[in-house]
Formats: sequence, structure tokens, C-alpha cells
Amino acid sequence: MSSEPCDGCGRRVRIAGGIGDFWSFAEGSTGGIDLELADGSRHFLCFDCLERLPDDREVTAADVRRLG
Ligand SMILES: [Zn+2]
Repeated sequence: MSSEPCDGCGRRVRIAGGIGDFWSFAEGSTGGIDLELADGSRHFLCFDCLERLPDDREVTAADVRRLG
């Protein structure tokens, strides 16, 4: 188990890594995911920030910056 800062809010989020963390993932202890945006940039976001992203259009890096 490791953690990574969320690109939106800056909070450190626990992430599951590898097959050994399968069960902890199933229990919901993974707090975020890597996201590839429409503009090709990659961001790690917690689920709180994911929910705040616009869902009526394609998300860009500017939207991620706006989260913070
Ligand atoms: Zn966040």
C-alpha cells in the first residue's frame, strides 16, 4: 500500500498496487485513480475530485487545476 497526492485537492490518497492489494481494493481503501484526460494529460485524482469534474463535456487539465 502506498499513497500519492491528489492533483486536484493535494490530499494524500492511498492507492492499491499490484495483485497483493486486490482485497484492499475490493474493500474500497483505494482512494483515487489515474485519469487520462481528453487533452492527453494524466492526473491522479481522489474520488471526491472525480465527482466534482464536469460530466457534460470533456475534462481538461484546466478543470483539474480548478479543483484546488
Ligand atoms: Zn482530490
